[in-house]
Amino acid sequence: MTDAKRQLVVFDFDWSMADQDTDRWIFEVLAPDLRRKMKTLKDEIQWTDLVAQSLREIHARGVTKDQIVQALETMPYHPAMKRAVTNLKSRGKTTFLCLSNANSVFISTILKSKGLENLFQEIITNPAEWDNSGLLKLRRRVDPLGVQHTCEVGCSPNMCKGEELEAFLGRQEEKFDLICYVGDGTNDFCPILRLRSTDIVFCRTSRGLQKRINSEGQEKGLKAQIKYWGGAWELEEYFDQL
Ligand SMILES: [Mg+2]
Ligand SMILES: [Zn+2]
Repeated sequence: MTDAKRQLVVFDFDWSMADQDTDRWIFEVLAPDLRRKMKTLKDEIQWTDLVAQSLREIHARGVTKDQIVQALETMPYHPAMKRAVTNLKSRGKTTFLCLSNANSVFISTILKSKGLENLFQEIITNPAEWDNSGLLKLRRRVDPLGVQHTCEVGCSPNMCKGEELEAFLGRQEEKFDLICYVGDGTNDFCPILRLRSTDIVFCRTSRGLQKRINSEGQEKGLKAQIKYWGGAWELEEYFDQL
């Protein structure tokens, strides 16, 4: 157990809380040709816009809301992750925040299917909603026509997780003694640069975040402690110490 009286655990979602990437998974399950098209176009079209466009295409060919929901509910998700967060939350001193480049519907659908719909105090992500015809309408969190974020660490235009984390911390009445960040991707590098030397990054191995920590961590002044995990059962071991 740490001495912290008030602690925050920040979760990325895809490949961090869940064992797959929601944006890609539903197309791999329901329309692999669209998944291939996304892979081809990903360097030309901003990712959130590309997912929104692919959702319109899948809807136009008759794929239903129920099919998408079912694909999400059956996406790989480790039972140890549910145990890890449930046990930590039950000890009462931890606030959970989700910071994700997926979208509000994908995340809430999966959390609800695991009985975790009340886990997070806030879910900061791209907004999405079903319309009456069963189309999932998705937008960037940062409106492309409005003021853009000023991140220079390389966050995607739809959202800077570092700025979002700082804004969240600014909205809190009390400070957190300890902040932990669970992530795997290149876009999780910006927020972990904002952490203190007493904070902890739980970095999933063999993915973009680990590579950025190795190549840029020192030069960019990364201060937080780094602990690595591969399967959710290993994150559970760490959480049992918090
Ligand atoms: Mg991720
Ligand atoms: Zn950023």
